Amino acid sequence: MNIGKELFGKTPAGTEVMLYTLRNRQNLTVKIITYGGIITGLQAPDKEGKTADVVLGFNTLEEYLGEHPYFGAIVGRYANRIAGGRFMLNGTEYKLAINEEKCHLHGGNTGFDKVVWDAEEIKSDKWVGVRMSYLSKDGEEGYPGNLRVTVTYQLNNQSELAVEYEAVTDKPTIINLTNHSYFNLNGEGSGDILGHEIMINAGKYTVVDENLLPTGEIAPVKGLPLDFTAAQVIGARIGELKGGYDHNYVLNKEEDDLSLAAWVRAPKSKRVMQVFTTQPGMQFYTSNFLDGTLKGKSGKPYGKHAAFCLETQHFPDSPNQESFPSTILNPGETYRQKTIFKFSV
Ligand code: BGC
Repeated sequence: MNIGKELFGKTPAGTEVMLYTLRNRQNLTVKIITYGGIITGLQAPDKEGKTADVVLGFNTLEEYLGEHPYFGAIVGRYANRIAGGRFMLNGTEYKLAINEEKCHLHGGNTGFDKVVWDAEEIKSDKWVGVRMSYLSKDGEEGYPGNLRVTVTYQLNNQSELAVEYEAVTDKPTIINLTNHSYFNLNGEGSGDILGHEIMINAGKYTVVDENLLPTGEIAPVKGLPLDFTAAQVIGARIGELKGGYDHNYVLNKEEDDLSLAAWVRAPKSKRVMQVFTTQPGMQFYTSNFLDGTLKGKSGKPYGKHAAFCLETQHFPDSPNQESFPSTILNPGETYRQKTIFKFSV
């Protein structure tokens, strides 16, 4: 295993953005930049050992600085939606940016996907990685408390990419972090993912209204196109849903241990990705809003369903939904979550 570091570009303010490349014995390569903690590339071998880049993304910092739907980025302080862009905490109302229809989405106008993180290389017997850290100041994007966040990406020779999140605060606040990678296991730009087979280890989901905001109800997936408890191709019943999949699954799990949330297998390349997480939920999103306007690394347009996202997280709008697991972080506590993406054939 080894790790490389090079300059990726400079922000308009002149801040250097570094690119880290992690490589293991299986010829798996992960590229991560300090802008947004974005995974810009993930070369994975297929059954013949031929590698392809299985995440959507760009070649240049300029493109990442422009409009795009969170390709590969760390999302925070609150991934997913908060209804009305407001929440109450200990009797105080906090107002956040409304950057989507009637809600706050993915941390606001300048979320964790749009800041430059500090980074340090880490190396141990079994892992190689990069630890990113960021101080989100009290009041940033409307959220209370100085929040110190670290996100650690690590790769081992079993082709596990581990993403560990930690945060501490000096005032009560809310937090929900995820990584927003867009996967296509046949390779980015190779068409849609409708033929990929998926298993999601969840018997329930959080019901949403027409603006994708939770109603508070948690309902069984049984009988619905959302049921992937037995593996099924993504495209089998996608037509029954408006736009496609964009749902938060309530994962089957004991406590908050690291357990299997999903696996996906690509038809042609036979690449497999398993997802393990400590999180209670996972947003399954089939890139319904990609429309071919954005062109990726190999110059090919990214159309509707060009990728899928498995965003491990707490449930959307938890700060306004008393029955959902809490996303409150108090001073003296440490927020800790872990997700592993494991690649095989
Ligand atoms: C959301 C989608 C959104 C996408 C890109 C996903 O996490 O669930 O509704 O369009 O992110 O912003």
